[in-house]
Amino acid sequence: MIIDLHCDTILRLWEDGGSLLSNGFHVDLERLVSSGYLAECFAIFTPEENSRGLTRFETMRSLHDLFVTEMDRCKDIVTVCRDASEIESGRLNVILTIEGMAATEGLDDRIEEVFSWHPAIMSLTWNEVNVYASPQSTDEATMRSGLTRKGFELVERAAEKGIAIDVSHLSDKGFQDLMSIDAKVLATHSNCRAVASSTRNLTDEMLRALAEKGGVAGLNLCIPFLHDFSLDDPARCSRVDDMVLHLRHMIDVGGEDLPALGTDFDGIGGRLEIDGAGDMPILIERLEKEFGTAVTEKITFKNALRFLS
Ligand SMILES: [Zn+2]
Repeated sequence: MIIDLHCDTILRLWEDGGSLLSNGFHVDLERLVSSGYLAECFAIFTPEENSRGLTRFETMRSLHDLFVTEMDRCKDIVTVCRDASEIESGRLNVILTIEGMAATEGLDDRIEEVFSWHPAIMSLTWNEVNVYASPQSTDEATMRSGLTRKGFELVERAAEKGIAIDVSHLSDKGFQDLMSIDAKVLATHSNCRAVASSTRNLTDEMLRALAEKGGVAGLNLCIPFLHDFSLDDPARCSRVDDMVLHLRHMIDVGGEDLPALGTDFDGIGGRLEIDGAGDMPILIERLEKEFGTAVTEKITFKNALRFLS
């Protein structure tokens, strides 16, 4: 079974049209079912600009509307879950997550509206500075800036609703800020900085801190987060070998209850050995060989399920 903590399929459908049931993107419901997914987390990621003349918050709302419409259309196949207690085995379960709250601009009514959608997971930032926090960056000053007062307030309000906070895309200082308070924290789609140097990845210290808090880190299949290829390297590819290295490192540093999956499907490009939800059984077969069945099950769904419970 599989629980994937992150995909950007809703935005792909919003931008390019098509059906969630069956499409040519990385994720559709037919392939989630055939690959044995227990649950997929669908993120609402709101781009700053769009071709429809909408404000950013109108875009965010429109993405959520599309999520609701598509799930309703497919309700014979999927169950939309507000939290893990609603996840049913033998069904395809869907969980709503929010990637970046920039569009709410710190405004109470917008924040309440997003809460009313019942996301299970929320991140404060994507790769931009906003009213809540600063993102991961190669700029050291940005990396040293953490949560704002509004950011701390948002985390507190989210906690009251039982929403977990996602540190993927957050600055290193933002990560430390979250570790210093009582919050349920995970990284939905981030790898190990000791294995691939991208600032989107987590340091060993962060992996240990997440593990100590009972968090999980979702393996991201994006090429630069897996391996330090140069852009013109003909071997540049999202490889299963690298995925194994990251998972092994997560286990070595944070223990076998830390790693999970956060593919980033439909948000990533280039050459992918695991090219969409239909290929996930190939990854699982390899993980079984590398880690054995018990640990593979923790990576592919049990750790995520435990965290969401
Ligand atoms: Zn992302």
